Amino acid sequence: MQRLFAVIRNVLLFSFVLCCAFLPSAAAQSCGAKGIALQVLGSGGPELQDKRASSSYLVWEDGQARVLIDAGGGSALRFGESGAQMSELDVILFSHFHVDHSGDFAALIKSSWFEDRKRPLPVYGPEGNDFMPSTVEFVYDFFGDKHGAFRYLSELLVPGEEGDYKLQPHNVEGSAKPAEVFRRSGIAAQAVRVVHGGVPALAWRVEMGGKVIVFSGDTNGEGAGLPQLAANADLFVAHNAVPEGVTGVERNLHMPPSVIGQIAGEAHVKQLVLSHRMLRTLGKESQTQSEIEKKFSGPLKFANDLDCFPLN
Ligand SMILES: [Zn+2]
Repeated sequence: MQRLFAVIRNVLLFSFVLCCAFLPSAAAQSCGAKGIALQVLGSGGPELQDKRASSSYLVWEDGQARVLIDAGGGSALRFGESGAQMSELDVILFSHFHVDHSGDFAALIKSSWFEDRKRPLPVYGPEGNDFMPSTVEFVYDFFGDKHGAFRYLSELLVPGEEGDYKLQPHNVEGSAKPAEVFRRSGIAAQAVRVVHGGVPALAWRVEMGGKVIVFSGDTNGEGAGLPQLAANADLFVAHNAVPEGVTGVERNLHMPPSVIGQIAGEAHVKQLVLSHRMLRTLGKESQTQSEIEKKFSGPLKFANDLDCFPLN
């Protein structure tokens, strides 16, 4: 009998080794292993009850997470879940500095402390005004050696202090027409100023590996800059923060579905992904889709956290 138990135990052990020893860990990277892919880290807006991380996106190339766009609350956890490493990033791009686009920045940077990053990390985003910090101010507000909230990490920022890994923040003077901001190691990024109430805000176009991904950021869709920036994009990520028919402050800040459709159609984008989904738009997907389809006939998807959109 004992011998039988021993045999059964050995069989069980052996089958565990067969089944489980070679499975990738839960954190293994599964988006963008080959070619270019967009991964949505955060598909929600500022409300926690949408049960989504706030705005954040990764662009992968051949298994490397190379570009991070925005870092809203919850995105640091999603970043870890995606399997990405902070040491892989070539650049961070910010659309603007509302909390739901930037709240996890410090958490991401702190995590990178535990990686073997040896090269600078450029950070680009808008200029400031009376209400919002510029990108340089924003980064110094965290890591500046005198007044930074997390000045115990100032060696990441202050020239002359220890370490090869430095944050390199830059203010982008957003223009009404798309302009190139960054070109390095096969990545080109263009930005254009967009209208988001009184908040300095940018939309971004990222070109790499022969593919183009455009991020509207938060905007009410006014002006010719965004359709120009999005022209012929392989993928256009637009923010579905308000339903059709809103007025007042909400309309001043965000574009309703009809405007998203108008821009996607005018720009002839090849694929549209709707993100920044909020309580006021969740559950209205069919209405949103039919408004958009009046102006745009290409494929349309509603994003969820960690969704992966390969572009090959
Ligand atoms: Zn937002």
